[in-house]
Amino acid sequence: MSISNLWASELEYRRTVLKAVLIVIIVAGSIFVVNNWFSGFKVYAMVELVVVCLCIGILVIHKSTPNLTLWCSVFLFSLYTVILIGIYSASFNSGLFTWLFIIPVLSYLLLGIKLGTIYTSVYMATGVAILIYALLFNIADIYPITIANIALCLAAIWALSFSYESKRAEAVERLQQMASVDPLTGLNNRLLLDSIFEMLCQSLPDKQQSVSMLLLDLDYFKKINDQFGHDVGDKVLVEVSKLINDMRRRNDWAFRFGGEEFCMLIPNTSLQQAEQIAERLRIAIDKITTVDDNKLNISISIGVARWPDDGSQLSQVYKAADERLYKAKELGRNKVVSH
Ligand code: GH3
Ligand code: MG
Ligand code: MG
Repeated sequence: MSISNLWASELEYRRTVLKAVLIVIIVAGSIFVVNNWFSGFKVYAMVELVVVCLCIGILVIHKSTPNLTLWCSVFLFSLYTVILIGIYSASFNSGLFTWLFIIPVLSYLLLGIKLGTIYTSVYMATGVAILIYALLFNIADIYPITIANIALCLAAIWALSFSYESKRAEAVERLQQMASVDPLTGLNNRLLLDSIFEMLCQSLPDKQQSVSMLLLDLDYFKKINDQFGHDVGDKVLVEVSKLINDMRRRNDWAFRFGGEEFCMLIPNTSLQQAEQIAERLRIAIDKITTVDDNKLNISISIGVARWPDDGSQLSQVYKAADERLYKAKELGRNKVVSH
């Protein structure tokens, strides 16, 4: 699964939860609107109707909106506010306070750890405060033990929701890390290339629109493995990766494509600058003479291509860089080819 797919599935997860909750609230809310209207609580029924309409609107856009967190926040803000107004104004026997139990679950599922914790603490504390207020001023027939039980139960659900969401977020982060980092060299792996390329192309201001791609392949690497063993081969790969990583600028991206092939994405550079960077890398790698106490010769061939000059798609730019890399090999290796 690619990184962009992982992000997409994380968003998809939140959209699915939101849809399920919205449907429940629309159905339950509509019943409450009718019930409250005919019971004479017309103002509260109107408030509930507004929330139901808002839920229907969010349900319509929930699949396409790029501002999912914003809409989740708006939805929860209005839902929780109606719940609190209900608890404040209705009799304790209506059991409206049971809706408080949904607050931690919904907040963490829809908003994640940070915002979820803010929403949960604010609304749960306000809910319990309203119940204590009703107890102190004899507004409702509540016993202190009832409030203590509600508060304890809320705390338990809060703790459960918090640990569920933090474990889930951790697992997703670990998956993203596993999918994006090459375990041997620590460089980004190929799966990340698509999303980074797309991000670079979209984020650059108009006048700076260029991304250079360097495709690097170690020369005669098989011989190093054969002569010194696979372990030394691995150390060469780590050494070269460190060099590539050290020489890249802050906004450049370095990838290992598996085997002895690497790639760099360099935003906002002229072809000449990209050639210079490639040449500096080639020379630096050529200068490596010792790895793990083994004397060896390492060299690298590099193909350079640019977006958008060599094509508007990643596949076209990659193809151009690959052809030039092949040319560099043909020309005798340890070369940079950019035309
Ligand atoms: P060329 O100059 O044409 O690129 O020749 P080459 O020998 O570098 O290329 P070739 O594709 O023939 O061989 C690549 C070798 O890289 C073969 C494979 O055993 C080795 N290799 C691939 N992945 C790894 C790895 O993770 N560690 C080590 N040590 N070797 C690897
Ligand atoms: Mg090679
Ligand atoms: Mg190769």
